Amino acid sequence: MSKKDIVVVGGGGAGAMFVKEILRKFDRARYTLTLVNARPCYIYLPTTVRMAVTDHGNLEDVVLMPFDRLLGDAGTLVLGTVVAIEKQTPGQGGDVVLRDGTRLHYDALVLAPGTRLENPLDYPDSREDIQKYIGDWRQKIKDAEHIVFSGGGPTSVEIAGEIREYFPDKHTTIVQSRSLPFNNIYRDNFRRRILKESQAFGIEFVLNDYLDETVPKDGHVTTRKGQALRADLVITSHGGHPNTEFIQSLGADVLSKYGFVRTNPTLELPDHPGVFCIGDVIDNPERNRLGKYVKHVNVAVPNVLARLNGKEPKKKYTGSIETIAISIGSERGVSYIGILWGICLGSWITSIFQSRHLAIQGGRWVMGYGWTTG
Ligand SMILES: Cc1cc2nc3c(=O)[nH]c(=O)nc-3n(C[C@H](O)[C@H](O)[C@H](O)COP(=O)(O)OP(=O)(O)OC[C@H]3O[C@@H](n4cnc5c(N)ncnc54)[C@H](O)[C@@H]3O)c2cc1C
Repeated sequence: MSKKDIVVVGGGGAGAMFVKEILRKFDRARYTLTLVNARPCYIYLPTTVRMAVTDHGNLEDVVLMPFDRLLGDAGTLVLGTVVAIEKQTPGQGGDVVLRDGTRLHYDALVLAPGTRLENPLDYPDSREDIQKYIGDWRQKIKDAEHIVFSGGGPTSVEIAGEIREYFPDKHTTIVQSRSLPFNNIYRDNFRRRILKESQAFGIEFVLNDYLDETVPKDGHVTTRKGQALRADLVITSHGGHPNTEFIQSLGADVLSKYGFVRTNPTLELPDHPGVFCIGDVIDNPERNRLGKYVKHVNVAVPNVLARLNGKEPKKKYTGSIETIAISIGSERGVSYIGILWGICLGSWITSIFQSRHLAIQGGRWVMGYGWTTG
């Protein structure tokens, strides 16, 4: 009997967790596993907010992780960018096509391409270029006295917190379109705590306003409402863009208006048996968090195996409670559990679980390095 091929596109937060879990479950005599990733390493995003700002601790040595320990000798890494998916008869698998023309056959396909972020987290593909990019952005931040953020979401708050921690003399201002930081998926009590803790750490806010300018002129930027702000550097953080262009090759109705992937509760794409999606690019109202992707993986793994055994996928993703832990420098932060009135936890607990190490242990554990910070 010929082996069935499982192909995973994207070795980031969700893809790596999927690979780890399916390799624990699958029979090597029956299946092959191929991970396709554009970069030669996994980038553990929660810790990048510090890595972007400082060379203290050389965080790139722990944040960028090769795939060898994750895959061992049970899976294969193919380095490259997928540009199209070509299906055969429904349920019969197909090929993923890479930019260099390589074709990889799949019987089951798992899509986890994540989001393209903005500077200073818009990493290039080669290890060498990533290293240079990190160095260049650290220098830009070091050279700027006044740094203005466009967008008041978690990434802006966390990067601003790191800048205040490592460069307490620099001025950081966040311009946010709403009356409080973050999106209104989080309750106001939490958003007020974020505002208060950030301000107490010296981060300034301009609320109910927008910043469209990305390059300062004469040391200033001007908001939509006409407020001039001192600025040597603008960091834009509007949530990124899903890396899903290549998935359109499955048909126009596969993606939502904003480029997210429509799935059934089984995380399989409607009308595309054997093609599953996990991670940031799923079309649902939830915020992107790795904790949820443990649940995605726990649904996708049995469903992929069911499909490969000629059965209907049964396991369903029923949603997750919104939880988030936000660092504001290494000793401050606020955590949120979206139950009841919205439970908030302060700096003492958040610094232990998030701010000090930015959860790097979790990322390293997934990649086979044990529960360590370095
Ligand atoms: C600054 C920041 C801090 C965060 N902090 C936390 C936190 O503290 N806790 C938490 O739970 N979550 C956190 N998150 C969210 C979490 O990191 C993401 O939700 C998670 O990494 C997304 O996983 P993913 O696999 O969907 O995408 P990604 O991790 O982005 O991985 C996608 C991978 O796919 C590859 N790829 C993309 N397109 C292609 C293609 N066409 N062909 C081949 N490869 C491709 C990319 O190179 C990348 O390796 C944070 C996110 C950010 C940006």
